[in-house]
Amino acid sequence: MTKPSDVIKYCPRCGSSQFNYQDDDKSFKCESCDFHFFINSAAAVVAIIQNEENEILFTLRAKDPQKGLLDLPGGFVDPGETAEEALKREIKEELNLQITEFVYLTSFPNEYIFSGFSVYTLDIAFLCTVKDLSKLEVDDDVAGYQFIHPKDIEYKKIGLKSIKNILKYYISKT
Ligand SMILES: [Zn+2]
Repeated sequence: MTKPSDVIKYCPRCGSSQFNYQDDDKSFKCESCDFHFFINSAAAVVAIIQNEENEILFTLRAKDPQKGLLDLPGGFVDPGETAEEALKREIKEELNLQITEFVYLTSFPNEYIFSGFSVYTLDIAFLCTVKDLSKLEVDDDVAGYQFIHPKDIEYKKIGLKSIKNILKYYISKT
């Protein structure tokens, strides 16, 4: 039982237990104080970076969900930030790499359980060129990295469904 309506029981504004989930518009409405709370997808960015051999740069997840499994680099868009800014910031923070060019590829939704609660995301993928791959250095958020040729990808070793979908989409187009 991890859906928002299984976990959220009280109005965060007034504490009323009459905080009812409206399935049709994916929101909660408080009958006592009229507080209206929407469940939205969080925006996240994903980078496909390839080396000269066309191998794709994967990271190893250091944290749950899906700790130890393969991932693509990226992360959540901060409030007030553009997707493009988040892409450049995350790749600099996570991998110490500077993106010089990028182009939008596709997006896929995801749902995963974090803190016993469903988190909804929209993962926005970009094809990226970086300045100097030899500068690659992973942050503590990431357990390691690996370059894998598209034909050698083992999808069962990839943690998140949206990442599998992004890669399958990309490989089908190339
Ligand atoms: Zn209330």
